[in-house]
Amino acid sequence: MKVLTPRELPELFAALETPGAHMLAGGTDLLVRLRAAEREGRALPQALVRLDGVAVLRGIVREADGSLRLGAAATHAELLAHPLLRQELPELAAALCELGSPPIRNMGTLGGNICTASPAGDSLPPLMALGAEVELASLAGTRRMALSDFITGPGRTSLKPGEVLTAVIAPPARNFQVRHFEKVGRRGALAVAVVSLAALVRLERGRVAEARLAWGSVGPTVWRCPEAEAALMGQRLTLTALGRVGAIVRENVRPIDDIRASADYRRQVAGNLLLRLAVL
Ligand SMILES: Cc1cc2nc3c(=O)[nH]c(=O)nc-3n(C[C@H](O)[C@H](O)[C@H](O)COP(=O)(O)OP(=O)(O)OC[C@H]3O[C@@H](n4cnc5c(N)ncnc54)[C@H](O)[C@@H]3O)c2cc1C
Repeated sequence: MKVLTPRELPELFAALETPGAHMLAGGTDLLVRLRAAEREGRALPQALVRLDGVAVLRGIVREADGSLRLGAAATHAELLAHPLLRQELPELAAALCELGSPPIRNMGTLGGNICTASPAGDSLPPLMALGAEVELASLAGTRRMALSDFITGPGRTSLKPGEVLTAVIAPPARNFQVRHFEKVGRRGALAVAVVSLAALVRLERGRVAEARLAWGSVGPTVWRCPEAEAALMGQRLTLTALGRVGAIVRENVRPIDDIRASADYRRQVAGNLLLRLAVL
């Protein structure tokens, strides 16, 4: 297997033309999959194209409209070390703090987490609640789309052959006073989410004027509940009001049983997580 290490985008696009080439960012998902493929005698890529040497795919830059542009090949640890992330995107910072362990955060990248498109991917609920967009580039040019359109199912994205996820663009969200992420796993650390919730709530005179709620691990992709968001409008964030909305969540959510938790447990926790918004 060849390993190619481009330094610039044109070199990267050319490397991706290599027959049987596959992109490698931190490798924390891909190398696990390749090890399994090797064990099971399935075909391996003929070439791995490393993204870590392409400087323009890293870092955080503020765009003219105040959005933050997060490099797709920035590692979770690099993003967490950047002051803008914790200041401006606290829900994403909270999610990345809980992603894996220090070695996984040192190697794994935001782009890898998104392109893996796992229902339990920790960066996805906060990015969806923020209304983030992705930037995709190839020899054919550059396009942008909503992250919610980019992820089309578990492990499936709209990425075309030869295309690279170059950046994630998170719009400013300063007028949301409540910004929250919580993950429930089977243990306190190094746990895959059993249920997670990212919430952004804008209050006017103490009442909800806009609510964006995004759950992870309760469906094939991040799940939004328009019924719950509508029911929160005009409410104060009291335990009573949130308890009522939690019941709406439980009526609408359709999780599955798997090795980590039963559907019933997930349904219960998906509603309960809302109660945290009362004490923030
Ligand atoms: C022990 C362990 C614990 C983990 N814990 C968690 C956890 O708690 N939460 C969680 O969400 N995940 C977890 N993961 C999964 C993984 O670490 C993350 O999803 C990580 O962000 C993947 O990033 P990566 O750079 O390593 O991706 P890679 O493995 O390099 O790539 C994954 C896939 O995305 C593609 N890809 C990567 N970057 C791009 C790009 N820029 N453009 C196009 N395609 C691209 C690759 O070709 C590959 O198909 C864990 C993994 C391990 C091994």
